[in-house]
Amino acid sequence: SRTPLVAGNWKMNGRQDLLAEMAQVLAGYDGAAEVVICPPYPYLAAARSVLPATIGVGGQNLSDQDDGAFTGEVSAPMLAEVGCGYVIIGHSERRALYEETDALIAAKFSRAQAAGLVPILCVGETLEEREAGDTEAVVCGQLQAVVDAVGIAAFDRAVVAYEPVWAIGTGRTASPEQAQEVHASLRKSLAQNDKDIAESLCLLYGGSVKADNAALLFAQSDIDGGLIGGASLTADSFIAICQAA
Ligand code: 13P
Repeated sequence: SRTPLVAGNWKMNGRQDLLAEMAQVLAGYDGAAEVVICPPYPYLAAARSVLPATIGVGGQNLSDQDDGAFTGEVSAPMLAEVGCGYVIIGHSERRALYEETDALIAAKFSRAQAAGLVPILCVGETLEEREAGDTEAVVCGQLQAVVDAVGIAAFDRAVVAYEPVWAIGTGRTASPEQAQEVHASLRKSLAQNDKDIAESLCLLYGGSVKADNAALLFAQSDIDGGLIGGASLTADSFIAICQAA
């Protein structure tokens, strides 16, 4: 009964021409999954105006403040005003390259929801953590840190994405069974906070999802769609992934 969702995270890629191509191809999309495009900040307003109204637009990051002397930052009310419905929070690249902590991520999560945006909260373990047998502890810990900070009730308007760091941009996807195992752990750990919210939460998988492996991943009982990096930069592969959800 959960609505599938496929979100394309362009990261720092794509230009106007990609947006135009996506708008054209997605105009013919009539699948069951909700689809969201997350281009870089400068393209958000254009994305909202050229994409069909049924396609969502999302930011890739946001500030933990709403206004003020924070040069280079972009806030939740700004994203909402230019037509975003979603925002990615706590992507592993932000955690690793920009040293975002669970506390900062939780603050961003609250700001996003206060502006009416649906947060797409990312969690995921490194290869080292997986090999040490710490996957479940790491990902459930990242999720629980935000639950503890913002309250479980906030998760009725949120999406969580499991993205194993070792699978991102490597072409080495988690197997459907590996991904399902972690998704089940995440849902179980949320259920200890609130059973109904855990059951209804949309849980995405991300990490080397391609047109040819998406269907098997999305067929897993606790995988409700995907967060797509590289394969969201080609209209044909992105729409094929959307159709698989
Ligand atoms: P890739 O699909 O390129 O592995 O990226 C996944 C990701 O990080 C999406 O947020």
